[in-house]
Amino acid sequence: MGQQAHGSVESVSSARVLVTGGAGFIGSHLCEALVASGADVTALDDLSCGRRSNLDGLTGHERFRFLKGSVLDESLVHRLAAESEAVYHLAAVVGVPRVLRDPAGTMETNWVGGRNVVDAAVSAKARLVLVSTSEVYGREAASPQHEGLPIPEFSGEEARDSYPRSKRLSELYCLEQSSGTWPAPVIVRLFNIAGPRQLDTIGMVMPSLVKQALSGEDVTVYGTGEQTRTFCDVGEAADAMVRLGALKNGEPLIVNVGSRLPVSINELAEAAVKGAGTAARIRRIGYREAHATDYVDFMRRQPSIDLVRELTGWEPATDLPTIVRRVADSLRES
Ligand code: UDP
Repeated sequence: MGQQAHGSVESVSSARVLVTGGAGFIGSHLCEALVASGADVTALDDLSCGRRSNLDGLTGHERFRFLKGSVLDESLVHRLAAESEAVYHLAAVVGVPRVLRDPAGTMETNWVGGRNVVDAAVSAKARLVLVSTSEVYGREAASPQHEGLPIPEFSGEEARDSYPRSKRLSELYCLEQSSGTWPAPVIVRLFNIAGPRQLDTIGMVMPSLVKQALSGEDVTVYGTGEQTRTFCDVGEAADAMVRLGALKNGEPLIVNVGSRLPVSINELAEAAVKGAGTAARIRRIGYREAHATDYVDFMRRQPSIDLVRELTGWEPATDLPTIVRRVADSLRES
């Protein structure tokens, strides 16, 4: 893993850190990595999609506490940020089906929540790590996607765009509001993070396909299956975020975090069936059948991760079969 390969890095050790969305799939791994780095961590989560049990490994730890609450609760967010030296903002509506069902709620939680957290971190003079998404690059972006690419406006009416639009607004607001803060904020654009604790019930392809394969059900590939993603191990992504949070950057940074290796959804389906060792069959279905709408998919998504490596030495190393195995082990336990 990257952590061992690159030796110790300066961490946010002993800092008091607030993690919004801390009981979520990625948030819970980040809380563990931050506590391991020496930080004193508060996880805030409304448990709408995160689960308290994701934090079982930290329960009772003297440098960890969990609070149930929403990032839409402005006074709560300000109070918690005021007690913190660093804030990682992950709380968000996620998952394609939920975004399609509730674009207004997606905008509210992600954008209003993002704005509250930015305001709170700036007024508390806390170091801010804002988690954003690869989707801000849009469907037409060159590949691999590097941080300097122009960002489309997402001004259309498509429900799906509420997700990248809300995240992009938060990015822009963060950049506008944080001038003069030190260290300057880090905006992390995550690319298809996968691993243990990822829910198989909210649409993400990795746990959905692995779960189907384990149960011997048809493994549902949407569209042609030729669309590609890069899957990055969640523990490695958390390590990257800890490293980025420890930087002492004078200017705001926008940094991709993900894996370099493109995998087609057809290849993923095959790996899921192979990893599960069942006789599950792969079945291709149209987007209309999958989402009850004419969904326009992202066909290629692959990050350039040269910048995060240059800044922190981080380079992910977990391969696809290993991620599939970890996801399968976690789904068997849940
Ligand atoms: N997908 C699929 N079967 C599923 C869920 C998703 O084929 O059961 C496809 C989806 O259409 C997309 C890719 O897998 O091409 C990744 O989907 P996901 O929702 O995980 O993430 P995103 O599209 O945001 O990268």
